Amino acid sequence: MEFKVVAEAFRKLEVTSERLELISILATLFSKADASNIHMLVYLLQGRVAAPYTGIEIGMGEKLVEEAIARAYGVDKGEVERMYKELGDLGLVAERLAGNKKQMTLFSEPLTLERVYNNFYKIATASGEGVVDKKIRLLADLLKDAEPLEARYIVRIPIGRLRLGIGDATILEALAVAKLGDRSYREDLERAYNYVSDLGYVAKLLYEKGLEGIRQVKPVLGIPIRPALAQRAASLEEIMQRMGGECAAEAKYDGFRLQIHKKGDQVWIFSRRMENMTGLFPDITKAVLEQIDANEVIFEGEAIAYNEETGEFYPFQVTIQRKRKYGIEKAAEEYPLKLFSFDIMYLEGEDLTPKPYTERRKILEGIIKKGDTIELSERIIARSVKELRDFFESCVERGLEGIMAKDLKAPYIAGARKWAWIKYKRVMKSQLSDTLDLVIVGYYKGRGQRAKLGIGGVLVAVYDPKNDVFKTVAKVGSGFTEEQFVQLKQLLDQITLPHKHPRVVAKIDADVWVEPKYVITVLADEITRSPNHTAGWDGERGLALRFPRAVSFVREDKGPEDATTEEELIQMYKQQKHVKVEEGEDSY
Ligand code: ATP
Repeated sequence: MEFKVVAEAFRKLEVTSERLELISILATLFSKADASNIHMLVYLLQGRVAAPYTGIEIGMGEKLVEEAIARAYGVDKGEVERMYKELGDLGLVAERLAGNKKQMTLFSEPLTLERVYNNFYKIATASGEGVVDKKIRLLADLLKDAEPLEARYIVRIPIGRLRLGIGDATILEALAVAKLGDRSYREDLERAYNYVSDLGYVAKLLYEKGLEGIRQVKPVLGIPIRPALAQRAASLEEIMQRMGGECAAEAKYDGFRLQIHKKGDQVWIFSRRMENMTGLFPDITKAVLEQIDANEVIFEGEAIAYNEETGEFYPFQVTIQRKRKYGIEKAAEEYPLKLFSFDIMYLEGEDLTPKPYTERRKILEGIIKKGDTIELSERIIARSVKELRDFFESCVERGLEGIMAKDLKAPYIAGARKWAWIKYKRVMKSQLSDTLDLVIVGYYKGRGQRAKLGIGGVLVAVYDPKNDVFKTVAKVGSGFTEEQFVQLKQLLDQITLPHKHPRVVAKIDADVWVEPKYVITVLADEITRSPNHTAGWDGERGLALRFPRAVSFVREDKGPEDATTEEELIQMYKQQKHVKVEEGEDSY
């Protein structure tokens, strides 16, 4: 496939602000690919060469890319830098230089998708001596043969500035249209994707084996499953009612969710976001080999730092110290982790996800040998609200976050937030029952004191997974320190857009629009009706947050599609009303 076709589609995607048009451009592009190259297209669209869990990233610094541009077009680096200052985008610099060059040489080999992908793959995986030079050479090699428009995108990919911001669900929908002729097949593709969180794998399978192949997908060792997620309830009564009078209740640990795969002696550890974190957890890896009595298994648990002397759980901040890459061994020694296992999805070749919770739990119990690190999550079977309450209180007393109620009969529902799991946490009165994770879609330049910072607040949105779009819910201007605002502006200025992103649905304008990429955690007092925001729109009004304030900086562990969903927001809105009536606050 000629890369020219891909570049032309990128150009169209870049200028559209309509989601349906976006799908149609993508579907047209996908219909030109075949089983041998569809995965390449899917990855490149997201500026990648492999699924995120592989850890294979193209990442090249701007300086190296400048060097490659200089080399490809025979200009000196100073000239490239000067043009960069003028144009503000290295992609445009390469485009212009390629245009000048084209007038001089008429013969160059047309680029193919395969060649572009393969060179980027080599760049991503290059190592050893002379690696820097190798990367520059591989990029310059592409640029030499690139048409001006192709050069624009070839440069933007390695510096992470493709800015197409196309989500997984949109890609799946476009694949359904291109290959199966109907967007409703997106559901089948999503189901498969929930089991193997690798878009390239799913796309290739679709092109090779069609719908049948897609419907038979099972978990694969070494590829993370998209985790099952929990709903929220306003009261323990509501939980019991939804569960039909009987459920399991497990302690809710505020740690690190880990999905562990084991195949013989090989262990992989994935985070909630399905990143490979095996290197950060040598102690857990060792414990898995010692304590897990199975050859092939996929199971899940929450890792949390624990004080062996006092039996106390440390707060999340202590557990997460591990994420700083240095001193892993030291952290492991100082703050040993416990892994509380709570589910199992695969054992010795068998997909356990369709089995009911009670059966999975029994199987899980059967494979854990006694030891210091891996334990089962604490749990009870509750048959009354009182039993739930007693358990909840005993958990909170011991410094735990709350409880997770689980439907005894439910399968493991990968990648979805369903009522099979319901979280219930300790909360403070006069606040919402939970924080929200919201995606930044734009920012405001700030007035008064903030004008000098150039940023005074951000426009944030919830995620609507059905339409794969982001709907605004608040402007957040408090909770950040000045330093954080400065840092935030730096991050956001790298992803600005000349117009609202096609996946953002908004009624109000931002001063500066950005690609939906960063998530912050926000606390608010209340959810109210508002004509200004599009989240939860009922035809007349949407939902907005009252007194929103940021309680986190940009969350490294959450991507835009992990944000609080529109449905959750509506649920929280309803639950809040319910609580108020119950507490009689409305009668003041
Ligand atoms: P979510 O993971 O639902 O998007 P979140 O990251 O904001 O939300 P919480 O709302 O606090 O986290 O709760 C869900 C998380 O609780 C799970 O993802 C998991 O990491 C953790 N957890 C702790 N204990 C358990 C348990 N016993 N069973 C399932 N999950 C548990």
